[in-house]
Amino acid sequence: MVRLLLLFLLTGCAASRPTSEYALGPLPSRQKLTPRAEAVKPAPKQAKVVFLDPGHGGRDPGTQMHRWPNLKEKTLTLEIAKQVEQQLMSLGITVAMSRRGDTTVSLEKRVSLASSHKAAIFVSIHINSCPNKRISGAELWFYNSQNGPRTKSSQKLATCLCKRFSQLLPVRPRGVKSGNLHVIRETPMPAVLIEAAFLTNAGEARLLSLPSFKTKLAGAIASGIDDYFKK
Ligand SMILES: [Zn+2]
Repeated sequence: MVRLLLLFLLTGCAASRPTSEYALGPLPSRQKLTPRAEAVKPAPKQAKVVFLDPGHGGRDPGTQMHRWPNLKEKTLTLEIAKQVEQQLMSLGITVAMSRRGDTTVSLEKRVSLASSHKAAIFVSIHINSCPNKRISGAELWFYNSQNGPRTKSSQKLATCLCKRFSQLLPVRPRGVKSGNLHVIRETPMPAVLIEAAFLTNAGEARLLSLPSFKTKLAGAIASGIDDYFKK
């Protein structure tokens, strides 16, 4: 839970996340940071795949409330991701997902699934927590991999998402941040981890209990992804 020293230094808050996906694994090898073979050989023409990763699941509930409305991060992320999928599909964008039910999926598996789908981008969806219950707003995380093009694209995706969050949601986003998180570090394609709202903030917890807010949230994510491909 308190393993993210780097993030703590950056935000003072992220270190409190009770989430295993933030565990700092071994740093990626140089080889993993180099462009993949697909980038060298001309890839066959096919639809771009967006890989959605609903955080947690199964034995790992993520952050959760122990009083009404008893929300669990793993349930919220799946609900939101499924709506993002619907909205992307309506825009003609192909989607693959790391899970479609309440199942345990390791961080390594999430990364390898995204690679096997040859995803154009990887978008992980999470809900935040913080001991300071006044903190609210979305955070859009990307990893500075020293791989210029991938980092640039990840930052661009995070910025597109952040803009849509500020336009379409009632809560002002906390902004785009760079951090060392497993799924955005180990994926070979541009990747962003969305901390969509704080479950520890009473106002945002109330919003997260509303179907209308989750639909708006999914709309902001889908619009940000669509913007990324158009820019
Ligand atoms: Zn999480």
